[in-house]
Amino acid sequence: MEAIGRFFPLLNTPSNIVITCHQKPDGDAMGSSLGLYHFLIQLGHKVTVISPTNWADFLNWMPGVDLVINYEQFKHKAQAIVDEADIIFCLDFNILHRTKHLEKPLAAANCIKVLIDHHQQPAEEEFTYGISLTTKSSTCEMVYDFIVASGNQDKINLDVAKSLYTGVMTDTGSFRFPSTTASVHLMVAYLKEIGLEHSEIHSNIFDSSLENRLRFTGFALLNRMEVLYEYNTAIMYIYSQDLKRFEIKTGDTEGLVNYLLSMQGIKFGAIVIDRDEERKWSFRSKGDFDVNTFARIHFEGGGHFNAAGGRSDANLEDTLAKFKKILPEYEQQLH
Ligand code: 5GP
Ligand code: MN
Repeated sequence: MEAIGRFFPLLNTPSNIVITCHQKPDGDAMGSSLGLYHFLIQLGHKVTVISPTNWADFLNWMPGVDLVINYEQFKHKAQAIVDEADIIFCLDFNILHRTKHLEKPLAAANCIKVLIDHHQQPAEEEFTYGISLTTKSSTCEMVYDFIVASGNQDKINLDVAKSLYTGVMTDTGSFRFPSTTASVHLMVAYLKEIGLEHSEIHSNIFDSSLENRLRFTGFALLNRMEVLYEYNTAIMYIYSQDLKRFEIKTGDTEGLVNYLLSMQGIKFGAIVIDRDEERKWSFRSKGDFDVNTFARIHFEGGGHFNAAGGRSDANLEDTLAKFKKILPEYEQQLH
């Protein structure tokens, strides 16, 4: 993977560009994709955003989201667009298999691939150019830096601003995580100066739940949470029947894991959800417990030091049992 700076000259030649991100895009994946989209179209490129899967309804207010192609829904159309691409931007993931069924078409595409990402241990050999900075708050912050460093700050219009603000806000837990540096606030100050209305965005993302989501949250906290005080750990487990009973959709479980860390003394929070094809884990920690490594070693996952994900093919009982069996190995680190 060559340094991103070497890619900048290619911005001047109008090209067919695809932008993609990790499966089940969150605010940062969708925000960085759309932010980059609204920037690149101003340079005369033909740009398509392809999401590997569907996404949460709370992202559907975003400028340009209607143009995003869901690969699982429109495989042939998406494949034809990938086949025509000169350049593919890969945002907010560190390894192609984070794009689920889009992995193979991406790997097979014989074009320039550009990585912009902040996850740990990127598979650099999969990309032509790129930048990977694990200290960055979000991929949205990195897309902002990319636009500025390429000499195009004047191209940051309100559509770019709204998109990029979304990911910076969601990935920093509304500006509270340690990754919220002075650069983050300076970026947001610039977006405000050009007219960004940030309250609207908070409201669109956080105040748009339906009743069933709140009922489900209450149910899960009451009936599906276990606190393992001896390890300063709290876990939550959601059965597929729970998802059906409360009509839970993509995105409705996002943020649930954060409740675990809001308890005094809890350093490690883990939630496992019984999705159709797999058991999906979310791990969060406070302080010096490294959930990226934990997820990599035990649950085929990864992510960041304090926020990571993983998966398991075992059933919910077995994957929970495995977690509880492993935990004592980490007793010292969790004290
Ligand atoms: P979440 O728990 O919100 O799904 O994910 C937390 C962080 O870990 C996000 O940055 C996400 O991209 C990353 N992540 C989630 N699942 C996986 C996984 O299976 N593998 C890797 N490498 N990263 C993941
Ligand atoms: Mn991110």
